[in-house]
Amino acid sequence: MKHVCVIGAGIVGCSTAYMLAKEGYQVTLVEEQDAPGKLTSFANGAQLSYSYVEPFASPATLRSLPSLLLDAHSPFRLRLRADWRQWAWCMQFLKACTSTQVRAGTEALLTLSAISREILSRWIAEDNLPFGYKKNGKLVLCPDRPSFDKQRKQVAFQRTLGCDQQILGAAECIDLEPALAGYQSQFIGGIWTESESMGDCHELCVALDHALKQMGSNRKFGTTVTGFEVRSNKIRAIHTSAGDIEADLFVLATGVQAPAMASKLGIYLPIYPIKGYSITLPLINPQKAPSTSITDLGKKTVFTTLNGQLRVAAMAELTGFELDIPAERIDTMVQSVNDLFPDVCNTSHVNAWAGLRPSTPTSVPMVQKSKIHNLLLNVGHGALGFTLAPGCARIIHEIVRMEPI
Ligand SMILES: Cc1cc2nc3c(=O)[nH]c(=O)nc-3n(C[C@H](O)[C@H](O)[C@H](O)COP(=O)(O)OP(=O)(O)OC[C@H]3O[C@@H](n4cnc5c(N)ncnc54)[C@H](O)[C@@H]3O)c2cc1C
Repeated sequence: MKHVCVIGAGIVGCSTAYMLAKEGYQVTLVEEQDAPGKLTSFANGAQLSYSYVEPFASPATLRSLPSLLLDAHSPFRLRLRADWRQWAWCMQFLKACTSTQVRAGTEALLTLSAISREILSRWIAEDNLPFGYKKNGKLVLCPDRPSFDKQRKQVAFQRTLGCDQQILGAAECIDLEPALAGYQSQFIGGIWTESESMGDCHELCVALDHALKQMGSNRKFGTTVTGFEVRSNKIRAIHTSAGDIEADLFVLATGVQAPAMASKLGIYLPIYPIKGYSITLPLINPQKAPSTSITDLGKKTVFTTLNGQLRVAAMAELTGFELDIPAERIDTMVQSVNDLFPDVCNTSHVNAWAGLRPSTPTSVPMVQKSKIHNLLLNVGHGALGFTLAPGCARIIHEIVRMEPI
């Protein structure tokens, strides 16, 4: 039986380890934190966003960059660092802002998201994983004509790829989601996707880890991978804070730390953190809370009712690896809650969180073999790791299956 060691127990590593263990492989999962899903997979937007996968790098993003960068209240923020990786990433991002790349990226991500949806449904049916999963649909609100026209174009393109989405006027949006009634003057229409789902990403990590334990897999928490012993272009063992671990194959799933780790093996990964924030607020009027997932394109913010609370996620900052939470960012997000859903939450009990999206310039993750014979990469999931993790785990399984020991 092949022994596969998965490095990193975020949603990507947990999904990979779980898929491989289910397929009968001997699995070791190694994680620096004391439990699964404690970094970027902890309190994200909770969206299983199978149809909203359009890459961030696009001609429209390029056109709006000057205003995004100059506006002090912009959800986007760039702080240039003395870090060649950030500069190289920015150059590659600018190069990816073409319509050809948007189409190719959308196609690749839709294919991956369709596989992910199918695999996750199978896992839920077979193993009854508890993570607040719900097929609640998603409504994307367009503040003005240009954003509405752009969304309609994207819907038409995605229809050719099998996506079923509806274009709604503002009144139809309110019929669908009455919680938005007080906000009707702020948008002119929306895109409704009935098949979108939601869940708690951290709870899914915990559930997958629990299933791994039941299957007898070896999970090593509080264990930092510090280096690699390589012979004849193969990793013989990884060095960790708890001793060496040998395996036939290794999967790198270390989120934003992947480039630093890969560079120890002479591998360059074009991945850089894009920081975002979430706030989670207790509901005081649950009957007035949204039952669908809402994305407000005007505020570039997503809202989801999750386990009796409202989860709100926003912002994209290319500022480095720090996880500080500036009060003004949180104030802006609380203001968004007051604008869309007044009197729904207790806004004096705000649970704020920051996370680093491990992003590639094209938004397409890297799920592939590497130049080291027995090292596979499952990295760079950016804003869609929760959505895409099961499909990426399936690709890794296919590679592992074909790989000679
Ligand atoms: C604000 C925000 C909102 C988001 N909303 C959504 C959403 O609604 N839907 C969606 O699909 N995605 C969303 N995302 C993206 C999603 O959260 C990420 O893509 C995903 O969590 C990345 O998972 P990961 O496993 O690659 O990384 P992580 O969860 O960061 O896991 C990597 C793990 O590797 C471990 N590690 C690193 N170095 C070492 C080492 N040397 N030794 C051992 N272990 C190590 C880390 O401790 C960590 O646990 C959002 C992200 C943010 C920030």
